[in-house]
Amino acid sequence: MKQIIISETAFKKMKQLNAKYSNSENGGFLYGRMNPEWLQILDISDAGGNARRTYTTVEFDHEYLSEYTKEKIKEELYVVGTWHSHPAGADLIPSSIDYSTMKKINVYYNSEYYPVFIISKISKEEFSFSIYKLDENRKILKIENWEICGSGE
Ligand SMILES: [Zn+2]
Repeated sequence: MKQIIISETAFKKMKQLNAKYSNSENGGFLYGRMNPEWLQILDISDAGGNARRTYTTVEFDHEYLSEYTKEKIKEELYVVGTWHSHPAGADLIPSSIDYSTMKKINVYYNSEYYPVFIISKISKEEFSFSIYKLDENRKILKIENWEICGSGE
């Protein structure tokens, strides 16, 4: 499976956006670049000003996301997946709603350039996340080979 590289900046931003909405889910898109060997996550977005966030769901503000995506494309950063948070007491396992979202997004990509799905949470002040993809049979696979890379790329 390809190597997933998360920039320090994207990592910190996810942690902040997680903490900002500690009583509800939050989320957004993941931006970066990919090839058959690796996938880099260099920025992430918020869910947007008009997003609807509850304890167990987040509905993205699509207008905000499409504007943000346009800006990122100017920097040659593309949507490489999505992320969302789970409440502190919950686990990082995709729910059935998460799974159907994954399947919907997956159809826009081909198997070599697949998107990734991050679920994060802050529990007892500790930030953690898991990364998933769908395999050829649309089964959920947890990605273990990822790393956080310091400044720059
Ligand atoms: Zn979820």
